[in-house]
Amino acid sequence: MYAQVIVDIAHSQVDRVFEYSCPEDGRIAVGCRVKVPFGGRPAEGFVIGVSQTPSFDASKIKPISYVYDEQPALVPECFSLMQSIANRYRVPRAVALRLFLPSEMRLGRVNEVFTKYIKLKDPDISLGKAAKKQQAALEELKAGDAEYTAFCQKFGRAAVNAVVQKGGAEVYKVRRSRTPMPGEGEEYIPVRLTPAQQNALEYIESSPKTIQLLHGVTGSGKTEIYLSYIAEVLKRGKTAIFLVPEISLTPQMLRQLRRRFKGRAAIMHSGLSAGERFDEWWRLRSGEAQIAIGARSAIFAPLENLGAIIIDEEHDSSYQSETAPRYSTIDIARLRAEYNGCKLILGSATPAVEDYMCAVRGDFGLIELNERINKKPMPDIIISDMKEEVKRGNNSAFSRALKQELVSTLEAGNQAIIFLNRRGYAKTVICHDCGYVAKCENCDVSLTYHSEENCLKCHYCGAKYRMLAACPQCGGVHLRYGGTGTQRVVADLKQLFPSARILRMDNDTVSGKDGHYKILSRFANREADILVGTQMIAKGHDFPSVTLVGILDADMSLHFSDYRSGERTFQLITQVAGRSGRAGMQGKVVLQTFSPENYILRYAVNYDYKGFFENEIKIRQATAFPPFALICRVMVTAEEDAAALEVLKEVYFAIAALKKECESEFIFFNKMHSPIKKLQGRVRYQVLMRLRSKKLLPRIYDIAVNCSNSAALAYVEENPANLS
Ligand code: ADP
Ligand code: ZN
Repeated sequence: MYAQVIVDIAHSQVDRVFEYSCPEDGRIAVGCRVKVPFGGRPAEGFVIGVSQTPSFDASKIKPISYVYDEQPALVPECFSLMQSIANRYRVPRAVALRLFLPSEMRLGRVNEVFTKYIKLKDPDISLGKAAKKQQAALEELKAGDAEYTAFCQKFGRAAVNAVVQKGGAEVYKVRRSRTPMPGEGEEYIPVRLTPAQQNALEYIESSPKTIQLLHGVTGSGKTEIYLSYIAEVLKRGKTAIFLVPEISLTPQMLRQLRRRFKGRAAIMHSGLSAGERFDEWWRLRSGEAQIAIGARSAIFAPLENLGAIIIDEEHDSSYQSETAPRYSTIDIARLRAEYNGCKLILGSATPAVEDYMCAVRGDFGLIELNERINKKPMPDIIISDMKEEVKRGNNSAFSRALKQELVSTLEAGNQAIIFLNRRGYAKTVICHDCGYVAKCENCDVSLTYHSEENCLKCHYCGAKYRMLAACPQCGGVHLRYGGTGTQRVVADLKQLFPSARILRMDNDTVSGKDGHYKILSRFANREADILVGTQMIAKGHDFPSVTLVGILDADMSLHFSDYRSGERTFQLITQVAGRSGRAGMQGKVVLQTFSPENYILRYAVNYDYKGFFENEIKIRQATAFPPFALICRVMVTAEEDAAALEVLKEVYFAIAALKKECESEFIFFNKMHSPIKKLQGRVRYQVLMRLRSKKLLPRIYDIAVNCSNSAALAYVEENPANLS
């Protein structure tokens, strides 16, 4: 028998199918991982086909040296996806296949855990009269198998081992799964779906369109719709994938899933240990679990017979991969949904403008939920004009309105969330004498001051610098911290409300694999009155006692130099505001801004997504930005400047030639330094273009692949989430 193998080496020159011979013992099947001789060395590979006859001279075909898998690790669907991903994003097929395996499995680092058991082998062996313990042990085994460690504790290890040695019993191992799940053992109480939820489910079921956009205000019961749909799919004997932006941030969601689906749900996220990740992956592959829940990479879950794919908070930028292959999760999900003939549900209170456009055009089905469950009103959003506050001499981080609302919230015994867009004690360090700003030597971005460690940190590469005593440029000592960070806010709050219990959540306080979970559960258990945090607290949490949300710097994201900054700001305000007043009590939001007249804030305050969308889409059309154009960036990075410049020139000339050929496709085209000139020790240049359509994309990908060499890498980004 012969096997067609893709060798697991990420290089376009070996991106071919190689043939090896293998014994006819049925151990080798499509999807198995194998070890093969390759160019005089052993290499790992994936079997993508088997045949009875060789495709060339059999005497030149080498045998496979080893088979890793008893059950093929890859499901058949992988091969069709592999081809689509390799074609679309121009990566070697081995790189596409790697997406489907947990990395610890590929590198052979998995440390599987087993539990040892002991069972009866021969009840009639003679043990000797004096061996009372051995006899008792043998007697006990007649009643059934026992867990080895506990058994040894009961009868003594020596006695137990003697019974084994004499042939009376034997020890065996069972693979143990390290499944980490909150909500274990809690009872699931079914809810009765509202007519709106019922209609949504019926619409999804009967619509002929593969992709369904579920646009529902926060608290409208979208999660219940997802879970009911999954339950229905499981009933039909199918499986489901459920994606959330950052799973470690949503313990309530996990708890809900665990309660409802028990061991049928498996979690895949980066907060798990390697062993836990592998175990969860294996539970899906073996069929023990049928629901994969996780962030972006869970779209590659090893499930067969998919009945639904759900992407919650579909607008979130984490669904765009930022490492090769730079895939869009929604694109991959669509391929999987089409392959399996199932629905792809995209849910959000603030859909991405591009996706809402698809729904309006009729490419996607559209379901809208305009009311919260039980017609609970949306929280009132009060705007605080910070220019006025400063004029009146209020230089603190909080407006008078926010202070008042905090007082009444705490008096009523409720909880508050204070949201701001940054982390660290304060942002940059600026010399007020000469204007010097402290920057990272590797990355060319401003450093952030962290008071707990009294140091400066680079948020792009993590480098740490000692705090400056004087300005290195002019020697002046008037160094000031610009902006306000979470630590500063906590310090100010403590002064204003000495008896309030305050928790802080940002990248600095969250550490360890369940750091988020711990902070959020403490807040949920009402061990604190105020939670201060960054973006992390904006997403999907459901705290019933929160009746006030303060947004300290609504402007931060407005002034980003990004065509999506309006959209991002609208999304952020809506998401954060959605945390307030989720249970019985009316919620309030105080939004602090220096530009209260801004139209984006106006739409957000009125929860007017449609108004925002109609306005935004007009601007995008008039200025030729997505979805009416495609922003495409070819990044060139290298350790040496000269190597990068050489490749940059090549890329630039190749695209310039393309432009000559198809002038009308180009709206903008130029080469330049990337805004961050250096990142993690590599210089960065870019060719930036805005194109009328995706027509030329395959050719641009080809250019990037062909121009890359061992000293400099060129790669393509489509509508990158940020242009730094
Ligand atoms: P969304 O995902 O749209 O923000 P959720 O699904 O979290 O909304 O629902 C908001 C709240 O309403 C939750 O506390 C949830 O338990 C509750 N809820 C959802 N559906 C129902 C229902 N049919 N009956 C009663 N309560 C519901
Ligand atoms: Zn850095």
